[in-house]
Amino acid sequence: MADSNLNVVIVGGGIGGLFAAKALIAQGIKVSVYEQAPALGEVGAGVYLTPNSVRHLVRVGLGPAVEKYGARVGTASRYFRADGTPIAPVQVTDSSGWNATFGMHRADIVEFLAASLTAGVVNSGHRATGFAQSGDTARVTFANGATAEGDVVIGCDGIHSELRPFVFPPSDRVYSGSIAYRGTVPHAQIPDWPNDAWQMWLGKGKHFLTFPLRAGTLINFVGFVPADEALKESWSQPGDPDELRREFEGWAAPVGKILAQVQTTFRWGLYDRDPLPVWTKGRLTLLGDAAHAMLPHLGQGANQSIEDGMALATILARSDRKHAPAALQAYENLRRERVAQVQSGARANGLRYDSLYADLAKRDAEIQAHANFRKKLYDFDVVPQAEAAALALAS
Ligand SMILES: Cc1cc2nc3c(=O)[nH]c(=O)nc-3n(C[C@H](O)[C@H](O)[C@H](O)COP(=O)(O)OP(=O)(O)OC[C@H]3O[C@@H](n4cnc5c(N)ncnc54)[C@H](O)[C@@H]3O)c2cc1C
Repeated sequence: MADSNLNVVIVGGGIGGLFAAKALIAQGIKVSVYEQAPALGEVGAGVYLTPNSVRHLVRVGLGPAVEKYGARVGTASRYFRADGTPIAPVQVTDSSGWNATFGMHRADIVEFLAASLTAGVVNSGHRATGFAQSGDTARVTFANGATAEGDVVIGCDGIHSELRPFVFPPSDRVYSGSIAYRGTVPHAQIPDWPNDAWQMWLGKGKHFLTFPLRAGTLINFVGFVPADEALKESWSQPGDPDELRREFEGWAAPVGKILAQVQTTFRWGLYDRDPLPVWTKGRLTLLGDAAHAMLPHLGQGANQSIEDGMALATILARSDRKHAPAALQAYENLRRERVAQVQSGARANGLRYDSLYADLAKRDAEIQAHANFRKKLYDFDVVPQAEAAALALAS
């Protein structure tokens, strides 16, 4: 438990910012979250939660919420070629066999994280526009004229982060050459669709993914297709269901079956960033997509932001006002390498998924072997390392 009375300002109330708030408060630290949106909304579709982050949600008391709102993904999960030939099972447990792999609607996780915080912690309608620090104080200014001061400020404001340039000079996002059509279909419309399986079909330059949400009552779909012209990175750009159907014409029967039910879809330009060499400056650090935007091909965006929040809370709990900048630096040192590996792993997996291999048998063998990478990813527990980093700081 902290005896430091730290006061932490979090900018951004997405999954990363809200989980960090929950984990810091669990350590007895005072937190205020500032979110630009006027209210939480039903934007987005499915995110994938894996054991390496679910163990932290369980630690802060949110295990029952994950079970209630999520849909557990089971051993029927498979990779297929575009024609329906099975390639390999999907790794859904850690090495111990613990299955904590869930499909979750982004709106649900944002809602239950926010609901778990005391009223008044989250301040909506606050868009951060500026940052300054001097001496022991860090200050954020907002477009509405308000300011917030803290011992530290955490930029959790996503891929377009307003706070990142206060840490590292602006750099361009990297466009992957693909966009994703996303959406959901009620399971009741396809009652024989498996409601506990993550399934992916892989074709030349394209791939199609489905997994269940909301206790299996919704099927999440994502169709990844190439596009020359980069779309603005937005979660709410509408797409044309007929165009989506044309993209996957002739694919295995289940793909056509679900696409026949699609009435609305939105399009998302796929960008990431090269790993940042620096996340921290004095009393300001970055977390989640603000620090390490990544492609979705390992399904780790939300999971890595949760690991970040747990690491940060564990280290800050053993710090105080004077030593907070060193604690933020220790958090960055702990996280940067692992996250950079996940960022590059997501790029490599995208090449496999889009079948950009001369020899597909080689690609299929890599996908079969990928289970070992997943096990290592899922086995990882950031807390012991964060505790050791905090102890090293104290000595
Ligand atoms: C609306 C939306 C829908 C999404 N839908 C999906 C999805 O369906 N599937 C998926 O896999 N991933 C989705 N994501 C991305 C996914 O949530 C993130 O990749 C991952 O969870 C990491 O979260 P994060 O908290 O770092 O960033 P984000 O989830 O992007 O959250 C950043 C938060 O900061 C707020 N913010 C941004 N700028 C400012 C500012 N200047 N001042 C104050 N607040 C600010 C944003 O409104 C947002 O709430 C979505 C993100 C958003 C913003």
